[in-house]
Amino acid sequence: MLSRKHLLAALALTLSSGIASAADEVVVYSSRIDELIKPVFDAYTAKTGVKIKFITDKEAPLMQRIKAEGENGVADLLLTVDAGNLWQAERMGILQPIQSDVIDRNIPPQYRATSHAWTGLSLRARTIAYATDRVEPQDLSTYEALADKQWEGRLCLRTGKKVYNQSLTATLIENHGEQKTEEIIKGWVNNLSTDVFSDDTAVLQAIEAGQCDVGIVNTYYYGRLHKAQPSLPIKLFWPNQADRGVHVNLSGIGLTQHAPHPQAARALVEWMTGEEAQKLFADINQEFPANSKVEPSSEVAAWGTFKADSIPVEVAGKRQAEAIRLMDRAGWN
Ligand code: FE
Repeated sequence: MLSRKHLLAALALTLSSGIASAADEVVVYSSRIDELIKPVFDAYTAKTGVKIKFITDKEAPLMQRIKAEGENGVADLLLTVDAGNLWQAERMGILQPIQSDVIDRNIPPQYRATSHAWTGLSLRARTIAYATDRVEPQDLSTYEALADKQWEGRLCLRTGKKVYNQSLTATLIENHGEQKTEEIIKGWVNNLSTDVFSDDTAVLQAIEAGQCDVGIVNTYYYGRLHKAQPSLPIKLFWPNQADRGVHVNLSGIGLTQHAPHPQAARALVEWMTGEEAQKLFADINQEFPANSKVEPSSEVAAWGTFKADSIPVEVAGKRQAEAIRLMDRAGWN
């Protein structure tokens, strides 16, 4: 058996050589697919030698898995989309705060948890898309106005079961209260031209096909479709520019409660909020960097600038349960 002296000597050697193998690895559970994250992780490994292992799945099973693994957890970080999901993870008790001046400097406070349990990495606006041959931009103004008679039989929406729409509804409740929000949502549901769709791309394709004239989508879905079809007869509109601004949500990351490599994980998150990673991470999916010092890609910049809602996005989580009940009552399936 090794003596205490031997153990200390071995430890000193490990520390001095700087190759503490366990710390040279970070494990990420990601609900974002390989192609959106691998280039970023590869860049970090090339720079630092730190290996990043990741598995991808839907956010709910990943969160359950972290919960079930408990103290024997293998994941250091949970990477997912939407403040509603990150807030949920925090509530499940599977995240721990990262106190970091670097992160606090890089990411504006409305895109982080006040508890420091997670931080945003990239931003997406959930905005109005319209058919350029059937809608004039001056016909559009606010999310609320899509409930007006003028849009009867002309609106397409994604299912209310998707967290993106629950988060949008949560911010409406924060602004207008329950009663008025319910009227707005009922108005939207009344104006639907067809059943709700399972994803945002289908909403855009329905607009293109003439099934409806307007819809609400995340910007990167528009970016993807527009890239594939440069002549796409659809444009993005930035609503609520005279009041609170466009609803912006995020992809983000949090340190797990029982992370085996908390220091290495923290260093990775700090790097991910910095300039080099922000550019890479945002550009891959045509998103906006969460670090406001970093410019979006030219493709994204071409959509134009807009005023974003400055509401802290964690409201999406805080009011999620309320939003789901309200959407249910209003018939948003
Ligand atoms: Fe998405």
